Amino acid sequence: MTTFPLERFAQIETPFYYYDTQLLKQTLNQVVEQKNRYGFHVHYAVKANANQGLLKLIREAGLGIDCVSGPEVQCAIDNGFSPQSIVFAGVGKADWEIRLALEAGIRCFNVESLPEVQIINEIAGSLNKRATVALRINPNVDAHTHQYITTGLEENKFGIGLTEVESVVAEILKLNNIELKGMHFHIGSQITDMGAFQVLCMRINELQKWFETNHIKIEIVNVGGGLGIDYEHPDQHAIPTFEEYFSVFHRFLELRDGQEVHFELGRSVVAQCGSLITKVLYVKEGRKKKFAIVDAGMNDLIRPALYHAYHKIENITSDAPTEQYDVVGPVCESSDCFGQSVVLPQTKRGDLIAIRSAGAYGEIMASHYNLRKFAPSYFSE
Ligand SMILES: *Cc1c(COP(=O)(O)O)cnc(C)c1O
Repeated sequence: MTTFPLERFAQIETPFYYYDTQLLKQTLNQVVEQKNRYGFHVHYAVKANANQGLLKLIREAGLGIDCVSGPEVQCAIDNGFSPQSIVFAGVGKADWEIRLALEAGIRCFNVESLPEVQIINEIAGSLNKRATVALRINPNVDAHTHQYITTGLEENKFGIGLTEVESVVAEILKLNNIELKGMHFHIGSQITDMGAFQVLCMRINELQKWFETNHIKIEIVNVGGGLGIDYEHPDQHAIPTFEEYFSVFHRFLELRDGQEVHFELGRSVVAQCGSLITKVLYVKEGRKKKFAIVDAGMNDLIRPALYHAYHKIENITSDAPTEQYDVVGPVCESSDCFGQSVVLPQTKRGDLIAIRSAGAYGEIMASHYNLRKFAPSYFSE
């Protein structure tokens, strides 16, 4: 359970991100222990949070890295991840990003369209290299999550459709500088229904048969990420159920000899260890509601505004009887609201508020909107 050092916080200017590094270490221990039972490989999806303090612990735990841009590939290298632990996905890789990844010698490009593979083939040729690729296939699995973070349905922009696999693979096999070694999938994010992953396994099993019939050897089965966390109960469920998650793939995937299973986990690794700490500036009593106006805004944490995401909000300095507040930021947008009708101890100017489960897609999505500064980060140890 995350505890907040209030005396230390009193010395720090708000808003800021606070990371419970003890919890991150415990989470990483779980990931490693559970994946090792089955010999699985895990790449941390660095787009969830690229904070260097966290990356150090993630690298020390022995995870690889999943990147979706050239700067993320560079960030992985700068933070000491070995090139062979890097995989690179994304629908719109620019030429310079492809060149950067080829020159670094990354493990695998997760490719999302035929025109993209053709460009990788050209650039690899000009560098006298061969690129290892895994084809991202859209398995048409409904992840039962928010429409903006579901990615595995046919109408999404990601990957190629099941009906195109045959023709795209035929074209890829003609390319001299490409080694097709894997299949890649990623069906969405914040998935808590293990049934969705089970359906993914079934689709993969069907594709395995097709590749086998066509004598194409698949070495890497990359099932992506997406494991969800409990935003409602960050203390009771501080560590996601990695045991259950990995065991689904162990039970339902029908693997061939020598195949490696790769995962790309972002949110489930880092979400619960982070909180956004902010101070109450004003309590405004409207005719219908009370507003707690805080000094963090949607520029610091955009998830509530962007996805109507729920984050648990706590007043960590008051234990007075409770009232209801809309907790809002200072940014000039009505969507700059962290929570409506939040039950908090009676709240006053100067109280500290913790917005929980903010370790993933928080700090990394911050902006300068309204010319506000980036919130700094602090660690529990
Ligand atoms: C975002 C992303 C991930 C990580 O998703 P989480 O829900 O944070 O685990 C993994 N793979 C790809 C290709 C992604 O785009």
